[in-house]
Amino acid sequence: MIKHHISDKLLMAYCAGTLPEAFNLVVATHISLCDECRARMEGFDAVGGAVLDQRVSPVAMSSDALSATFRKIKAKTAPDGPGYSAAGQAPHTPSAMRDTVLPGPLLAYTGGGLDHVQWRSIGGGVRQAILPTSRHASARLLHIPAGTAVPDHGHRGLELTLVLQGAFVDESDRFARGDIEIADEEMEHTPIAEMGADCICLAATDAPLKFRALLPRLAQPFFRI
Ligand code: ZN
Ligand code: ZN
Repeated sequence: MIKHHISDKLLMAYCAGTLPEAFNLVVATHISLCDECRARMEGFDAVGGAVLDQRVSPVAMSSDALSATFRKIKAKTAPDGPGYSAAGQAPHTPSAMRDTVLPGPLLAYTGGGLDHVQWRSIGGGVRQAILPTSRHASARLLHIPAGTAVPDHGHRGLELTLVLQGAFVDESDRFARGDIEIADEEMEHTPIAEMGADCICLAATDAPLKFRALLPRLAQPFFRI
């Protein structure tokens, strides 16, 4: 049961094609797990320009520009595309590439299931694998052992965290598979993986995090976190 969804703002930016690739990947992966957000997105698609005019009025966008955008999104869902779909169809992933933890849109970035992921330790038992996206924002898989905390940090930009396995809790709530946490400059948190199962997340950020402790701060440039 997914409790934390994509905001309207993010979903519309995704439909309009204005998000950096790393954020597109998180949104597409959530949508592949979440019927509710997929239906909302199809609603945007169906009502098209009318919805955008009403809900994001400050953004001037002609309905011509909008239909051009939707054509672009549809083109991206071609079988050779990066594997994510903005039009609500199942991602075009070769049937040989399936994984119970990593949803279809991610497999194009990892080159295979969980056992293909090249993990690197970033200290404290936490491991990461940076995914190949454009540099406007970065995307990574994080593997946090059950019961382990990610160091206390704030954010300089936007951070999207999507849980793929296990669960974590922080000051705001509990997040399990399919849940997405949207953190911004105003938020500081210490995510802790729940006991019982290691937590695997997909996280995307468009600016370096702000760590309070010295050690993570020193390590940041090496881990591009
Ligand atoms: Zn959702
Ligand atoms: Zn964070």
